[in-house]
Amino acid sequence: MVSLSIPQSSPLANYLAHSDEIDSALRRCLKSGWYILGQEVASFEKEFAAYLGIAHAVGVANGTDALYLALRACDVAPGDAVLSVSHTAVATIAAIKLCGATPVFVDIDPATFTMDVGRLEETVKNYRGRFKAIVPVHLYGHPAHMTDIMDVAARYDLRVVEDCAQAHGATWEDRKTATFGDIAAFSFYPTKNLGALGDGGAVVTHDGGLADRVRLLREYGWEERYISKSVGINSRLDELQAAILRVKLRHLDEDNSRRISLARLYTAALTDQERITLPQTASEATHVFHQYVIRVAERDSLRNYLRDRGTGTLVHYPVPVHQQPAYAGCFKLYSPLYETEAAAREILSLPLFPEMTGEQLETVVQQLRAITSVRKRRARSKRKQMITPVTRAAF
Ligand SMILES: *Cc1c(COP(=O)(O)O)cnc(C)c1O
Repeated sequence: MVSLSIPQSSPLANYLAHSDEIDSALRRCLKSGWYILGQEVASFEKEFAAYLGIAHAVGVANGTDALYLALRACDVAPGDAVLSVSHTAVATIAAIKLCGATPVFVDIDPATFTMDVGRLEETVKNYRGRFKAIVPVHLYGHPAHMTDIMDVAARYDLRVVEDCAQAHGATWEDRKTATFGDIAAFSFYPTKNLGALGDGGAVVTHDGGLADRVRLLREYGWEERYISKSVGINSRLDELQAAILRVKLRHLDEDNSRRISLARLYTAALTDQERITLPQTASEATHVFHQYVIRVAERDSLRNYLRDRGTGTLVHYPVPVHQQPAYAGCFKLYSPLYETEAAAREILSLPLFPEMTGEQLETVVQQLRAITSVRKRRARSKRKQMITPVTRAAF
């Protein structure tokens, strides 16, 4: 295995940047003697809700559970159809399946990699199905088109469950994502913009009734201890993770600003590269760059080329959910997913994390420019020996 001098992301760097605060929060929590659903979780829930400008937050064990519990709270049940996208983390769709519902995939808008609202409306209008809810995904930190999605939801009486796992702090028309739909789900997986040092998640909502349902369902459906009112699960955020998240939440805005500045630097440095398509931001959006995703033909050889030079990249995600073996035959499609399938072939997530230095970014840019400018240089100078075999195979 090649060791990478520039990782694609670094939860370690983020821990080190705040280690004094995190270590003392952990010590406080360890000494309290209370490790499940105590003061840290209650405080984090309050602070996270206040940050988002929403009434209720409920800490849960991870992002998949957050989506599942949010859907359950909205009464999504077997026989229901739930509209979402195939270009997402498989967790989005796993949560729909866990409810016994059928995912219905809508293609994406290639400019923002989020749900194509024209296709959404076409599907709801033209096909009969027990459409119950829409799960828009704010992928890579770019919000889905929430104005139009809420409009479709209102006209066809559908619930909206926002998947905010990649969009902590992102805004649409100056409002935070998670505040548009009926309910929203977050993940605090370590690499997310707000990341725990282990698993964690939250469900947030304006609606007290929905929040109460999630509180019941996250702990065996207990209304009072040991008496289950509905069939719930165990999905609790633990005190240690909540203590860590309280520290990291205080730094979320500055971390997001750093991500945005790094993204601007990439864009400025690569904008003249005709063979790279750079990420775009809708005018209504604040993109928080959970990922900086470029598109390039010959993506896999570019990825190998960068890895050989110590630069880590990832593909989010290489196989759309509708093409994954576990999901074959258990979803519905009313129109082809051309944009989803094209994106999966071309996308590449470059290194980006708040502690990444300007120098590291410059190194990645130089590596990229060296290979994506190569054809022009060759045409001009005909110095074929300058081009490494990797380069020639790739481009
Ligand atoms: C990470 C992620 C999830 C799932 O979160 P986990 O905490 O890993 O269960 C769901 N949806 C999206 C878009 C994600 O990126």
